[in-house]
Amino acid sequence: MYIAISLYCLSLLCQVLASLISLSLFRHSATIYRWAWLLLAIGLSLMVGRRLVPIIHVYESGNFDLLDAILSLLISGFLLLGVLGLKKLLFKADNNQLTLETLAQHDPLTNSLSRTEILYRISEEINRSRRNKHSFALLEMDIDHFKNVNDQFGHHVGDTILANLVRHSQEAVRSIDIVGRIGGEEFLILLPETAAEGAAQIAERLREHIANTANVTSASKPINITISIGVAIFNPKKNPTIERGILLNELVNQADLAMYQAKNEGRNRVAFWSLSTPSFK
Ligand code: GH3
Ligand code: MG
Ligand code: MG
Repeated sequence: MYIAISLYCLSLLCQVLASLISLSLFRHSATIYRWAWLLLAIGLSLMVGRRLVPIIHVYESGNFDLLDAILSLLISGFLLLGVLGLKKLLFKADNNQLTLETLAQHDPLTNSLSRTEILYRISEEINRSRRNKHSFALLEMDIDHFKNVNDQFGHHVGDTILANLVRHSQEAVRSIDIVGRIGGEEFLILLPETAAEGAAQIAERLREHIANTANVTSASKPINITISIGVAIFNPKKNPTIERGILLNELVNQADLAMYQAKNEGRNRVAFWSLSTPSFK
């Protein structure tokens, strides 16, 4: 009799665990599978009652069916294993999804944001800036004569310098500022909540930091690079009705034109976009 009661009790324990796991997955899952977990948890909880009945029966009458007790434990045990397996699968799928999202959002060489992601963040910032009526700044930075670095030291040294540039840039800007790679050796830096004066200070600090920081690479000597920076300021009070996609293109274009002006003025400098900035490169 005690063997049968022990088997039924073990079965009950498996059943309770399986329904608790399903319930916790319902509570923590944000996917469309959520409701499936709730239904499973309800079904498994109802079956807990079915596992209690034979325990009471055996206890009261002293009669037991050992085969039924074994089968009961097997069924509940397999249900628990099945729920645990599904839980593992779900976590793996979530992790894969996270990895894919991270890969899509980041540039693999420099670990800065990808082109798509930085443009998305800027368009979000346009919305935010329009809501809170605070300006923000966009910098475009481009390495000066980078082709010479590649030609002289090789492409792999150039790659290291690109990765270093992002790290060194992040040292010079604020933690809220966001760096993204938009092309070979061209980067956008979003400076939220920043008007012209603040942008000028940050851009100059960045230019100076990059010029003064030697790059240690596999080359025999440390390599110094310089950058040219173009700055455009987004003023939320201007063009309040224009669609944000158009404003995004306009802003990126302004930063680009300003950056070319910095190149034309001699490189290793910062230039601001204004209405008098030449609109050709
Ligand atoms: P400028 O001062 O006018 O910007 O001159 P530059 O030589 O930097 O400009 P240009 O646009 O003529 O050349 C950019 C170079 O950047 C060409 C290419 O070899 C290099 N480049 C682009 N992407 C990568 C990359 O992923 N890795 C490496 N190592 N080099 C790259
Ligand atoms: Mg360049
Ligand atoms: Mg370039």
